[in-house]
Amino acid sequence: MKVELQNITKSFDKKTNTIDNMNLTIEDGEFVALLGPSGCGKTTTMLMIAGIYKPNEGAIYFDGEKVNDLEPKDREIGMVFQSYALYPHMTVLNNIAFPLKQQKVPKKERLERAKEAAEMVQLGHLLNRKPSELSGGQQQRVALARAIVKRPKLLLLDEPMSNLDASLRIEMRAEISRLQKKLGITTILITHDQEEAMTLADRIALMKDGRIVQFDTPMNLYNEPDNVYVAKFIGTPPMNLVEGKIMYNKLQIDKQTYPMDKSRFHLEHGKEVILGMRPYDIQLGWTEEIRFLGKIELLESIGHSKIIHANVFGKRLQLFAKQDFQAEIGAEVRFSVQPAAIHLFDKKTGKSLR
Ligand code: ATP
Repeated sequence: MKVELQNITKSFDKKTNTIDNMNLTIEDGEFVALLGPSGCGKTTTMLMIAGIYKPNEGAIYFDGEKVNDLEPKDREIGMVFQSYALYPHMTVLNNIAFPLKQQKVPKKERLERAKEAAEMVQLGHLLNRKPSELSGGQQQRVALARAIVKRPKLLLLDEPMSNLDASLRIEMRAEISRLQKKLGITTILITHDQEEAMTLADRIALMKDGRIVQFDTPMNLYNEPDNVYVAKFIGTPPMNLVEGKIMYNKLQIDKQTYPMDKSRFHLEHGKEVILGMRPYDIQLGWTEEIRFLGKIELLESIGHSKIIHANVFGKRLQLFAKQDFQAEIGAEVRFSVQPAAIHLFDKKTGKSLR
């Protein structure tokens, strides 16, 4: 099912817009993540799609039909929340079958369909257990099976993995991805975990203060951030950012000047800018055209490699070194980056100068 939000505004108090003129089109079968910090409006957006909240302005369309006035129960949506909210006295099978009972599906059919949904999330061998006899991951699978048993046209997942520990979360991620592809169901995932969004979603809507800042593939968000907010949010360790100024066709930082690729950026003499460099794009040594000399402030081992924290222009930048890299704190370090790998943003607006 195709989902469209057109000029959606939602406010709870008439003073501030929790959602501010949002436009979003999700294609049939697509997996989209709403990603952003706490309070940016992810849940509010999802609850409007589910019909639990009404937008103050704008329209929501499912497959081209306006659904603003459609009751939640008639929207053909399956939902999974952070808390599993299973019925403790019911078996796994009855928990999964429950939505069908509410729909008055005959008993034989509902048990068959519940079994089928349980098989899909690999719970076929635990049908007679009670929720208290299941692990957190298994309970969340029951919630997932219960969400798909009605064969909904849209699946809404609100931080479904945040109560699981790290290894279970990765397992559950794979489970959700497999299930979504198998069913081909349009899916919207809410998360503040960029890794979860990057690994699961076809496209990510990165949100800030009730607006979508960039709606794009994970790759484009990483490689071509539209603005400095996206650049900072996506990537670990985060992108290094240094302020500078365009002097003719070069970038000036302190007293140093660096050549800039005119074909990549709109360079305006005198403009104040922010230079962005991803830690992974920085090479140790002066092998590339844009060169820096820094002082090592901290050397962190992360197993397969080390992170060098280097002070340049009074700012701390991060770059990677091999596992066996050794140096004294305070030692000089040379590093460089290709002109093709740098990002430039307008300091005033935060927008990319691409
Ligand atoms: P989180 O990741 O913490 O769940 P979120 O991005 O999902 O955050 P929302 O839950 O959508 O954010 O909340 C966005 C803003 O709207 C918050 O400032 C919140 O306090 C406010 N808000 C949400 N629901 C209501 C409500 N029912 N009444 C009043 N304010 C609300």
